[in-house]
Amino acid sequence: MTQSQRLAPTHAPLTAFAVRDGELLVGGMPLSRLAARVGQTPFYAYERRLLDERVGTLRTVLPKALKLHYAIKANPMPALVGHMARLVDGLDVASGGELKVALDAGADPREISFAGPGKRLGELRQAVAAGILVNVESFGEVSSLAAIGDETGLTPRVAVRVNPDFELKSSGMKMGGGARQFGVDAEQVPQLLAEIAATGLAFEGFHLFAGSQNLRPEAIVEAQARSYELAARLAELAPAPVRFLNLGGGFGIPYFPGEQPLDLGPIGDNLAGIVERASRELPEAELVVELGRFLVGEAGVYVTRVIDRKVSRGQTFLVCDGGLHQHLAASGNFGQVIRKNYPLVIGNRMSPAKREVVSVVGPLCTPLDLLAERMEMAEADVGDLVVIFQSGAYGLTASPQAFLGHPPCVEVLV
Ligand SMILES: *Cc1c(COP(=O)(O)O)cnc(C)c1O
Repeated sequence: MTQSQRLAPTHAPLTAFAVRDGELLVGGMPLSRLAARVGQTPFYAYERRLLDERVGTLRTVLPKALKLHYAIKANPMPALVGHMARLVDGLDVASGGELKVALDAGADPREISFAGPGKRLGELRQAVAAGILVNVESFGEVSSLAAIGDETGLTPRVAVRVNPDFELKSSGMKMGGGARQFGVDAEQVPQLLAEIAATGLAFEGFHLFAGSQNLRPEAIVEAQARSYELAARLAELAPAPVRFLNLGGGFGIPYFPGEQPLDLGPIGDNLAGIVERASRELPEAELVVELGRFLVGEAGVYVTRVIDRKVSRGQTFLVCDGGLHQHLAASGNFGQVIRKNYPLVIGNRMSPAKREVVSVVGPLCTPLDLLAERMEMAEADVGDLVVIFQSGAYGLTASPQAFLGHPPCVEVLV
């Protein structure tokens, strides 16, 4: 082994799923048996126990008065959303389709909020009829909601999604600060509040969401502190007391070599201070953090079977029945700047006699269909099961499933 290989960063240890007799246990079942139970590969499996544990951890670390919302775009599988709806305090949706999933899951409409640019008129009508909170993102949405209010005799509930005048530093994806399609620029919010008042919409609060996939607690702390400051300032201009203040989230999970789990301690301490201040300054406000990936990402695996093994000019390839059409993010094509390997193992060979360096690819006729590039893992053969960890968020629904016309994937909640 060379010096640089020895010093190369490694994936954070993955201990969420147990191993028995050399086989990974998912939902308490040996992986090969679970594959038989599912009836096919590839599949995604999400574990209830890990979802419960994650919410439990957050409830321990975050202040009691803080509400925890699940942003269902991270994983909208109906059974999983149903499970989450019972664990968290509310759901955030980003389309009419997600609204249906949230309502079907039994979530209380008072605790459902709807964010996203480009809400169609039909979606706004659905939202008003459902009685959920709409996070308005433009002047146009305020006019549309006012018209829907007139037409239906219902009073649309709105919060203002603010595009802050700062960014969430070192975020995987920035969604606030600068010029954005999200929210209304902080400096235009006073005028928007005046329009909300003039059109008779029910103003209920503010929503700030600065970015996603952040592993630096100090960056999250700073964004939440500044979001609170900004909302408290804007609240003075609001037509009604703030009842909901959604401070966003952006909590990340470790995917790549060298990344470590997020330290929640400083975030919890900071939020405790914010909750305390809000109890004096915004006494009617419920404070909310909305999380997607952090709640579900580590609870899921993607499982695909090796269907061919070949050697090309000295490099070994494991060719699998699943690939980027079902797991775009693991292929490195979902917003990553530089492709890096997800944590991946041969799930039925967890205590291997031999290890080897291989590339794992999918069945698509494109070089982009790469699940692991020259990664060390157990020596594997046709029929073995490749497991990609950290696959519970932005997996199947964030992938171009129709690309190349392969059979559909299955998702199970175990
Ligand atoms: C995508 C999104 C989320 C979830 O982000 P994660 O990084 O998955 O936690 C939350 N809120 C809004 C408004 C979003 O668009």
